[in-house]
Amino acid sequence: MQTVKERTRFGLLFAALIFIGIGAGILYGAQRLIGDARSVAHSNEVMGRLDELEARLRDAESAQRGYILSGRADYLADYHNSRERVPVLVDGIDALVVDNQAQVRRARQLRAKIETRLHQITNTLLRYESDGIPGARAAMDSDVFETSSAIRRLKAQMVDAERALLEQRAASTRGSANVLRAIALLGIPLGLAVTLGVYLLLVREIRRRSDAEAAAREVQGQLREGNAELQHKSADLRALSRYGGMLQGCLDADEALQLTSRMLSTLRPGTAGTIYRMRNSQDHAEAAIHWGRHRAASAESLLPDACWGLRRNQPHLVSDVSASRCSHVSAVDHDGVAIACIPLMAQGAQIGLLYLSDDDDGFLSRIDIIEAVAEQLSMALSNLSLRERLRLQSIREPLTGLFNRRYLEESATRELARCARRELPLSLMMLDIDHFKAFNDVHGHAGGDALLAAFGTLLAEHSRGEDIACRYGGEEFTLILPEAPVDAALQRAEAIRAAVETMRVQHMGRELPRVTVSIGVAAFPAHGDSPESLLRVADEALYRAKHNGRNRVECA
Ligand code: GH3
Ligand code: MG
Ligand code: MG
Repeated sequence: MQTVKERTRFGLLFAALIFIGIGAGILYGAQRLIGDARSVAHSNEVMGRLDELEARLRDAESAQRGYILSGRADYLADYHNSRERVPVLVDGIDALVVDNQAQVRRARQLRAKIETRLHQITNTLLRYESDGIPGARAAMDSDVFETSSAIRRLKAQMVDAERALLEQRAASTRGSANVLRAIALLGIPLGLAVTLGVYLLLVREIRRRSDAEAAAREVQGQLREGNAELQHKSADLRALSRYGGMLQGCLDADEALQLTSRMLSTLRPGTAGTIYRMRNSQDHAEAAIHWGRHRAASAESLLPDACWGLRRNQPHLVSDVSASRCSHVSAVDHDGVAIACIPLMAQGAQIGLLYLSDDDDGFLSRIDIIEAVAEQLSMALSNLSLRERLRLQSIREPLTGLFNRRYLEESATRELARCARRELPLSLMMLDIDHFKAFNDVHGHAGGDALLAAFGTLLAEHSRGEDIACRYGGEEFTLILPEAPVDAALQRAEAIRAAVETMRVQHMGRELPRVTVSIGVAAFPAHGDSPESLLRVADEALYRAKHNGRNRVECA
């Protein structure tokens, strides 16, 4: 840049010098031409004066001769006219040649000769006046001829000298003209060339600068875009971290799914979504939640093979669904619909699928944040199902699959309070297998366990959704029937008793003998208003059933 500046400055200076040179040359040449022209005019004037001087002298001589030959006074007047003019001309010539020493010398000689000649003429006239023609002839002696010759010679010398000067001036004029021509032919093109060079240099520099400015603008634009991208990313990350925190607080899968749908519809407004959950059997996935309006609809239930994301265990992104789609996605009648199938994985197992669709594929370019959401959701769902399993384990009894005693006490209190609040009845029954000790003794503990498991299944089958069937301990069971009045409970107890009578249990390839059950029933509010009192009176009824011959139902 510095060098271009310097070069431009140098070029401009050079061009200026050239033009100054051209100007000075022209001025000099013109000055010389004017000087030469003045000198030429001067020489011409000198020669003119010399010619006039010669002519006047000759006029004086011929007027003198005319007067002598004719005697006419007119000639004498002419003679005087011419004679008076001669000294004036001689003075003029003197003045003209004053700057040329050689000419001054010749002019002086000429002046002397002319004075001599004028003197001779005057003398001849005087002699004519006194002695007539013979006198005049006598006066024109040999000196006259010499003087006239000398005048002619001197005049010729002076004219020659002026001619020589004219010659010199002509040469000088030619020289000046040549100089001017040379200046015009060389200087102007050179100056123009240098100016053109400077112009090209400036044009190149201007272009370079505008290129640099364009590049700078581009870089600025990229920087701005990068900045906006960064801001988006950091907003996304903030949202993601907030989402992660809230996910930790979710109590169940539904809450986690609700939160995720809210998060994704805020993060990518306009992008519709569905979250599928894999059934426990792992054979198909079912839609659990939707948000937005899908541009390409997806089936409510899908086989893992129907989705490229699930098949390959990695996100499947399609920017134009009309070109390629999974078979669970329905066909669309226009181009440009983008979809994403992101499998939800936890501990190497597929637990679901996040499906997104949009008519703008912009969300695919920022899919990383959505993948992070999917990953967090997978982890949360997996944690929640683990927690649910652990909770069930803590309230279920493994042999029969029924609730344990701790849960019984908890739920009896809760259900009783609920029914009391709503002034609804609640019934409860205690069940005890008859002669189970003996059964155990004959068929072993394993045989006893098989029977207990079968009894648990039977009890579960005879329970409604709101009933709570528990293993109270050993071969004793409890069934809580919220909102059931005592007669309904007695009917249910009778049905269970009858079913146990006909229950068949296989163990180690053979059928175990039939057993019976004794049942005691108690109801709220008639027989008690606390779980403890109800359980106690039910147990008392059970004891009465045993006492009265077993395989029967007794009411408190
Ligand atoms: P009844 O109730 O008809 O008066 O007679 P019973 O033989 O059932 O009497 P009791 O209730 O005293 O006997 C309970 C027996 O149940 C004692 C024990 O051998 C057996 N038992 C308790 N818990 C289990 C268990 O988890 N598995 C097995 N196999 N047997 C158990
Ligand atoms: Mg017992
Ligand atoms: Mg028993």
